[in-house]
Amino acid sequence: MPSPLTYLDTVDKHACCGCGACISVCPVNCISMKADAEGFLYPKIETDSCINCNTCRAVCPMPSAVSTSSQPQHIYACQLKASEERKRSSSGGIFYAIAKWIIQNSGIVYGAAFDNKLKLRHTTATTLEELEALRGSKYIQSEISDVTFKEIKAHLQAQRWCYFVGTGCQVAALKSFISKDKQHPYLITSDIICHGVPSQWLFDTHIRHLEKQRGSKVTQYQFRDNSQWGGAEIVDYENGERSTLPSYSLSPYLYAFMNGFVSRESCYECPFATQHRVSDITLGDFWGGAKLFKTLDATTGISFCAVNTEQGANMWQNIVKDIDYVETDILAAIPNNSNLVRPTPRPIIRDSIFETIRTKGYDYTAKTAFKPQNYMKLRIIYFFLRFSFIKRIKNLLQAAL
Ligand SMILES: Cc1cc2nc3c(=O)[nH]c(=O)nc-3n(C[C@H](O)[C@H](O)[C@H](O)COP(=O)(O)OP(=O)(O)OC[C@H]3O[C@@H](n4cnc5c(N)ncnc54)[C@H](O)[C@@H]3O)c2cc1C
Repeated sequence: MPSPLTYLDTVDKHACCGCGACISVCPVNCISMKADAEGFLYPKIETDSCINCNTCRAVCPMPSAVSTSSQPQHIYACQLKASEERKRSSSGGIFYAIAKWIIQNSGIVYGAAFDNKLKLRHTTATTLEELEALRGSKYIQSEISDVTFKEIKAHLQAQRWCYFVGTGCQVAALKSFISKDKQHPYLITSDIICHGVPSQWLFDTHIRHLEKQRGSKVTQYQFRDNSQWGGAEIVDYENGERSTLPSYSLSPYLYAFMNGFVSRESCYECPFATQHRVSDITLGDFWGGAKLFKTLDATTGISFCAVNTEQGANMWQNIVKDIDYVETDILAAIPNNSNLVRPTPRPIIRDSIFETIRTKGYDYTAKTAFKPQNYMKLRIIYFFLRFSFIKRIKNLLQAAL
């Protein structure tokens, strides 16, 4: 049977998720990732050195997405029992529970972390200290280097536990690189329910915008924070200042991300955004969980967790003592989390938005297209909500003393 066509044949951007499996598998290193005008990475073959082995086409996870996924066996609304650890996660902290087990069993955790220039890359953690940088959602596409999958394969061959977390396409890429149809006994994977990914270039542009506004360099950036009220876009500056927004809508970058204005083209047709999942354990937010599951603590995040494979079920047993949970049905999660079953729709503005940024500048776009129409109203509402929230906490503390 002829192999299905891939981006390498068609140069159709919808067909490439930028996972890097093709550069990892190439035996003569003749493929490299190059950024397009929007900052998204795509593979480019050096035809002079290519030996036409076609392993790059065979490893591409996009054409075989459906056949490599499984129907979830169990769905849980869940959260770490340790509330302090939960506050340091984006959602209910299930990633931390699995990663901790892996580290305690001398394994390696692979996830997305910023380097010291705020570039997002997949990196490793073998200690709980190293794990800190991997925790938390970063709403940008994470780059996976051409050695990462090879390293994981070598560790698995040496019977060392590896836990890989990424978007559905990244997990599918790893599985395809290792073996499309065989589950490796020492590999655990988690895909995150994914809204779509903006590019590193757009994020860098946003950081420069913040630096210009504040007159100081950004030293740290957090997309969300479970430990404080509101807790969106927490930015630390070199001059010692810190800013926090009470809502995603008040950040131009996060507003654009949430509305799907700036995702990679393949994200709008993502074949991994379905009820069938590609990993052992799918992680997400259980939006609306606070109302549905009264036994769980609603003050910090509640995770959605789908256990999809037998290996995932075994891992669940390993961590279950650290978790509060309610078993439920996928139908309880879908109404508030459409990306569990379908990709984010491509809005019309996506046709022109990168051109607007290039021609009119990011500052202009931030003030226009990346700003909700009711921006001032939102600011006022959040100001009063925050005020009454702090007052309520003070009253509670006074009552407790
Ligand atoms: C781009 C993006 C879009 C998302 N969209 C949704 C959504 O629509 N609905 C939903 O329910 N949940 C979504 N999530 C997932 C959610 O934000 C939490 O990451 C998830 O619930 C896990 O939370 P946690 O508390 O268990 O772990 P956390 O401690 O928050 O750990 C998150 C894990 O995800 C990995 N990770 C973080 N950023 C990236 C990235 N850019 N690429 C690959 N891996 C990454 C980290 O390495 C870590 O392993 C999204 C996450 C990302 C990164």
